[in-house]
Amino acid sequence: MPSEHHARVFLESIIWAGGRYCPHCGGLRSIKLAGESSRPGLYQCSEAECRGQFTITTKTPLHATKLDLRIWISAMFIVLTSSKGISSVVMARLLGVNQKTAWKMGHAIRELMDDRNGELLPLEDIVEVDEAYVGGAPKSLSGAYNPRGKGTGKPMIFVAASRDGQARARVVADDQRATLEPVLLEWIEPTTTTLMTDGSTSYPGMRKTMASHHRVIHSNDEYANPETGAHVNTAESVISQVQRALVGVYHNLGRQHLQRYLDEIVWRWNHREQVRDVVKQWTTKAGVDREKSTTIWKPIPVLDQMRVLLQGAVGKQMRRSKEYGLCWP
Ligand SMILES: [Zn+2]
Repeated sequence: MPSEHHARVFLESIIWAGGRYCPHCGGLRSIKLAGESSRPGLYQCSEAECRGQFTITTKTPLHATKLDLRIWISAMFIVLTSSKGISSVVMARLLGVNQKTAWKMGHAIRELMDDRNGELLPLEDIVEVDEAYVGGAPKSLSGAYNPRGKGTGKPMIFVAASRDGQARARVVADDQRATLEPVLLEWIEPTTTTLMTDGSTSYPGMRKTMASHHRVIHSNDEYANPETGAHVNTAESVISQVQRALVGVYHNLGRQHLQRYLDEIVWRWNHREQVRDVVKQWTTKAGVDREKSTTIWKPIPVLDQMRVLLQGAVGKQMRRSKEYGLCWP
């Protein structure tokens, strides 16, 4: 992108893929303001009751940004292509901005990854759930006193993962049924869901609302039940992604921002596809071509991810607050 103008055209082509619209009223008629005094990329709504002015970043997390839009696009590229997330220190170095700016950009991008408007389809079929306390130094740090679990003040997260590759995660107050069930019902289609859980006492009561429910009792050394197909390995691997990101990338993150990091980790999980990967190709003595392949999960192409990320951008404007620098409506 030789100039910021090109970056603007790029963003307009994605966010307004279905035609330019006014972020204030949704009106489809607007005119370009091209006078000397107007900012680049400025439009005015033609609806009589609105007449609002806007640009491509109005009412998005990029609202009123002073940064070159090329830096924003680079930042999105970096976040979307990193496999475990990226710290604001590294991002600052890569983009040539200061750490505080990189930190805010990271949160703006995570805000784009959030599904607050509930546009994702409900999980269905086989859905595994699990919960865990997260944060703190890894267990393997020998000698370090690192209590885990109840009473440590560590935040708890609740995860649901469908075996078809979609997942959800939320910071929750505790692991009681009254806390977890309403969250789960927001995420799944209960009538078509087979719920897989561990032996936690919070789950049996939920059986009534689900099509069916199977458990594995970890305390009996049971981790998979071959008869029912019950296991929660998928949900556990989402949780381990979270643990690894919190320990390895996002050190000392504040609890008030944990949900945003969860949104990012779950985004990465949800934007993968199963692909057949040819691991070996050979020709037999008889001249027959053979190949050996496995099926693996790969991130979907970064441009496609960027498209999804930006299409929901309008309406996700962030405001600055005194305490944490950022707040959300
Ligand atoms: Zn308007």
